[in-house]
Parts: sequence; C-alpha cells; structure tokens
Amino acid sequence: MGVVENIVRAVGPRAVVLTDPAAQAGMRSDQSGIVGPLPLCTVRPGDAEDVRLVVSVCRDDGVPIVARGGGTGLEGGCVPVLDCVVIDTSSLDAILRISPEDRLATVGAGVTAERLNSLVAEHGLFFPVAPAGAAESATMGGMVSTNARGMHAVKYGSAGDNLLAATVVMADGTLARFGHDVFHSSSGLRMAALLAGAEGILGVITEVTVRLHPLPEARKSILLEFDNLEDAADVCALIAAYVPDAAAIEIVSAPTISVLLSAFPDAGFPPAGESLVMIELHGGPESIGCAADTVLDIAADHDGRPFVPPRGTDPWADRHRFTRAISAMSCEGRPCRFDAAVPLTRLTEYIRCLEQAAASVPGRPTTCIFGHAGAGIVHVLLPIGDKPGLWGTAAAAAFRLASTKTALSLGGTASGEHGIGLSSIGPCAAENAGSIHWMRAVRLALDPQEIMNPGKVLL
Ligand SMILES: Cc1cc2nc3c(=O)[nH]c(=O)nc-3n(C[C@H](O)[C@H](O)[C@H](O)COP(=O)(O)OP(=O)(O)OC[C@H]3O[C@@H](n4cnc5c(N)ncnc54)[C@H](O)[C@@H]3O)c2cc1C
Repeated sequence: MGVVENIVRAVGPRAVVLTDPAAQAGMRSDQSGIVGPLPLCTVRPGDAEDVRLVVSVCRDDGVPIVARGGGTGLEGGCVPVLDCVVIDTSSLDAILRISPEDRLATVGAGVTAERLNSLVAEHGLFFPVAPAGAAESATMGGMVSTNARGMHAVKYGSAGDNLLAATVVMADGTLARFGHDVFHSSSGLRMAALLAGAEGILGVITEVTVRLHPLPEARKSILLEFDNLEDAADVCALIAAYVPDAAAIEIVSAPTISVLLSAFPDAGFPPAGESLVMIELHGGPESIGCAADTVLDIAADHDGRPFVPPRGTDPWADRHRFTRAISAMSCEGRPCRFDAAVPLTRLTEYIRCLEQAAASVPGRPTTCIFGHAGAGIVHVLLPIGDKPGLWGTAAAAAFRLASTKTALSLGGTASGEHGIGLSSIGPCAAENAGSIHWMRAVRLALDPQEIMNPGKVLL
C-alpha cells in the first residue's frame, strides 16, 4: 500500500486528505512565488494526534513532510519538495486557553495573529507580532517558524521572543512539549527557542503558548519627511536608541512612495520625492508627550519635518500596500527581494551603500527601500521586467547578493524577519560559517532521516 493510502487509513475521517491536483494547486507555492511540485497529498489535521499519525506513516516510509501555515511566507519555506506530504496546519485553529492574569494564551498552530488579537483585546491585551499586510493569514506556527516580527518588533521583539512553550510532533512521531507557562524559567535547555526560525525542519508545531502584552494606555503617531534617506536612517537609529516608548519606527524611501502613489493615488504619503519616517509611540499619557518631544528634537537636528497626511487618509494602513504596489509592476508579480538587518549603528552606512550601488546600475532601475528600520531591518524590493526603469533578473540577483554581503560585512544578518526558506540558504550558510555545522548536528539528532522539510534553511 502507498503512503497516501496508509495516511488515509491512519487518520480516518477526522482529517481531510487532499489528493486531487486541482484541490492541491494552492499548496505548491507561497508568497515568494516559487512553485514546487504537487505533493503526494495534503493533510488538514483535526488535531495533534492526526499530525502524529501522519508523521509516523511518513517516518516508516521515509517520505518528506512539509509543514504549512497560512502560506504567506516570502522565502519559499513551505513550498513542497518532490514526493512529499504537506501538513496544512492552518486547520489547527483551536483557542485552548486565554489567561489574562498570566498574560498568556495557548492556541493551535493555525490561529492567525489577527484572530488572536481580536480575542484578547477585550482583556486589554495584545500579541505584538503581526506581519505588516499578512496578519489576517499568517499563523502562529508559521510566525514562530520564521521568527517573524512586524512593525512593533522595535519594542516587543519577535515571535520567538514571545514564545513561552510549544507542542511539536517530532520526526520520530512522538509528541513533545517544550517550554513553560511562565515568563521566567532557568530549567533546562530552551528547546522552544530552537523552533524560532527552524521553518519546520525540527518538527511540526501543533500548539503554542505565547506571551501577551498590555495594550498601551496611549498611542501617538508621528510622521516625518526628509530630503534624503540617509538623514531618515540616522533619525530611525537615534529614536530606537533614545526613545523607549517607540514601538514602531519605519523608514520609507522616496521611490517606494512614488511606486505606491502610482498604484494607489489616494494613499496618504508626500507626493514630492521626500523620504518618510513613521513612528508609533506606545506609553503612558505623560511619558508619551515627552517621547514625542524627543522625537521631534532628534528629527529637527537632521532636517526632518513633521508630515501631516491629507485629511481622510491613513498612511499606516497604506503602509500595508507597498508589497502589492511593487509586485504589480513586476514581471509575473514577483519582484526580487531581500530583508537583511544591520546593527543600528551601521544602518545609515548600509542605506548609503544600497543607494550608491543602485545608482551605479545602468538605467538606474527603481529600487524600493523600506522596513522596520528601528529594528535594523531593511526591506529591498526590486521590480523586475524588460521595460525602462525595471530591473533585469540577473542584475537584480547580483545586487541582492552583493548587498547581502555588505550587510554581513557590517555585522548584520541575511534575514531580519522573513526567514531563509529556499531563497536565502547561501547567505545563511555564509553568515553562520562558524556554527552551521552545529545547526546541522542539532537537526540530524532530532531528525536522522531528514524527512522534515528537507532542502530548506540548511543544506
Ligand atoms: C504582504 C506581506 C507582508 C509581510 N510582512 C511581514 C512582516 O512585516 N514581518 C514578517 O516577519 N513577515 C512578513 N511577511 C512574511 C510572512 O507573513 C511571515 O513569514 C509569516 O510568519 C509566515 O506565516 P505563515 O503562517 O503564512 O507560514 P507559511 O508561509 O505557511 O510557512 C512559513 C514557514 O514556516 C513553516 N511552518 C508553517 N507552519 C508550521 C508549523 N505548524 N510547524 C512547523 N513549521 C511550520 C513552513 O514549513 C515554512 O518553512 C509578510 C508577507 C506578506 C505576503
């Protein structure tokens, strides 16, 4: 009997097992646009026991397993490999426990950031990790697995930073719980932390316990415009260093704004070639006023001016449209992208290198730079195409490689938040040359057959 029949027999009617190519077509890709082969089948488990049964069958038959959440990943992490079984964990969407007093929630791996936040808001709490523009689909399992961040990472950290415990089906088919229901524990190895950024290569997460934060008493948005992106970067780094109430510090280059405005003319951004810094302060009613004064002082020292968006517009909502606007002008909707991060003290230098390198490319193609600069994360999106002003595929790939090397040479990292998946394996190996051997050793100890998402993150 084949693996698919064995899975169907093992899980019975409790799980959905898709085998029809049309029904599985959506499983072949994520938001990276990389398209993989059709899986042997896709399983939508009803609970952790279904996942355990599927993994056990695959273990016996040596069949690769690819875990999938919302499929919003940008690096091809959940793209199927040849002759694999996909476990679509978005079906594990139970809310198991919300404990306002303990400030934590235990939920199924398939619960989205948006749903969790809609449930905990009534308790005056929130979960701060939310991919900007994908929070309605990104799942807790996927966010932990990519160690996702989002705009509020400056103050609240990543999915991994807010992960207290996780239940995981290991490659040998056993169910393990790593971590604790308390914020402070020194009891043994932090195994749950290993899952942050593991992208399914250590096991399939079925349940997570995450830390919740009190909703801020007061919030304030400040928008600043600059004549050049280097001044904007300086200000981002200084605000991150000196304004503890800064929860979000976003940088937006003038070309990014131009692309946005040509796709969405109603967006609330400055139309005349300025760069923008967007700041959201979270604090108490008094501290937030002082924080705002400090922000404006820092900005004034760097020729920054407050920007007042046109009435009726919401630049924070429009911020979520960047990727869509840039993708729309790219061939097949797939820009070349990378999301290196650098130490804050090297942010301006990195931005300068990016701008100088882009300006030296013949035809000066459109180069969109934006991101969570207060966390050192810089997204670069290069629209691809054969029209003037767009990047050629080879030139974009060369720019991506050279710029990532620049980020690493500045003490940075190949991925600030999107993860490694299929697309960034080379830069990840280069960055971690001294430790990749140990990463592989951990992976082999937990999954000697290498059936868990093979070919991703580590080769
Ligand atoms: C418009 C847009 C904006 C975005 N903005 C941000 C942003 O601001 N910050 C940010 O960090 N990311 C951002 N992203 C990227 C993406 O949303 C995140 O990477 C997110 O964490 C992926 O979650 P997912 O559930 O969609 O995971 P998937 O794409 O389904 O999977 C991602 C990886 O996690 C693994 N995985 C998924 N579920 C499990 C599980 N249960 N157990 C084990 N492994 C699992 C997969 O195998 C894969 O390797 C954005 C994406 C888009 C499209």
